[in-house]
Amino acid sequence: MPTRTPLMAGNWKMNLDHHEATHLVQKLAWTLKDAKHDFSSVEVVVCPPFTDLRSVQTLVDADKLEIGYGSQDISTEAKGAYTGEISAAMLTKLGVSYAVVGHSERRENHDESDALVGAKAKAALGGGIVPIICVGEGLDVRQAGEQVPHTLAQVDGAFDGISAEDAAKTVIAYEPVWAIGTGEVATPEDAQEVCAAIRGRLAELYSTEVADAVRVLYGGSVKSGNVATIMAQADVDGALVGGASLDAEEFAAIVRYQ
Ligand code: PEP
Repeated sequence: MPTRTPLMAGNWKMNLDHHEATHLVQKLAWTLKDAKHDFSSVEVVVCPPFTDLRSVQTLVDADKLEIGYGSQDISTEAKGAYTGEISAAMLTKLGVSYAVVGHSERRENHDESDALVGAKAKAALGGGIVPIICVGEGLDVRQAGEQVPHTLAQVDGAFDGISAEDAAKTVIAYEPVWAIGTGEVATPEDAQEVCAAIRGRLAELYSTEVADAVRVLYGGSVKSGNVATIMAQADVDGALVGGASLDAEEFAAIVRYQ
C-alpha cells in the first residue's frame, strides 16, 4: 500500500490583515500543540494572501512552527514587465513551499485556462514550490453526469509538458465548484469517484509510481463534522479548506480528523 502523508491546506482567499493572520497562525499552532498533534502524520499548510506571507514567515521562523505555508497563485514569468504578478523566486524568498494554481475562483474570475494553470504549475515546480493544482466540475457538468471526463480533461491540460519526476511532486485538489463555499459537500462516494479517476489518469499519463506518490485532496465545504468520512476514502489524501480554515479551532479539528 502506498503511504501518502495526508495534507490539510487552508485557503484563506482574500481575507485577514497581517495582525489577524499572525493571530490565526499562532492560535492554530497552540491548539494543535495542546492536542499533541503529530505533524508528521498530517501535514498542515495555510495559504494566506500575498500581503500576509511575510508576517506568517516571521512567525513560523521565530517560533519554529511546523506549519507550512503557500501562496494562492503564482506568475508563469520569472521577472520583468508583468505588473501585479508575483514570481516563484519572490515566493521562495518568503519561504513559501506550496502554491495553489487553477482555483475555480481564478478560472472563473480571471478566465484561467488549463494551459495557463499548467504553465503556473511548471513555474512553481521550477522554483522548488509544490503546486496544488485545482480541478473540478461546475453544477451543470455534475448534473449531466460528466464530472469524471470534465475533470480528467483539466488534469490532461494542466499536466501537459510536465515530466514524470515533477508530476510526482505535485498535489491535486479535486474541488467540485458547486461545493465551494456553498455548504453543500460532495458525498464521500462522489469525492472518491473523481479522486480515484484522477489517480488512474496519472497512472495512464505517467506510471503507477507517480500516481501513488501524488496526494489528491478534496475541497468543497469541508468542516470538522464531515472531514472524517471523506478522509476514509482510499484516494482522498487530505483537504483544501476555504471558509473553515479561517477559524483556528475548527481548522485544527479538521487537521485532527482521525
Ligand atoms: C476553497 O476555497 O478551495 C474551498 C474549498 O472553500 P470552502 O471550504 O469554503 O468550500
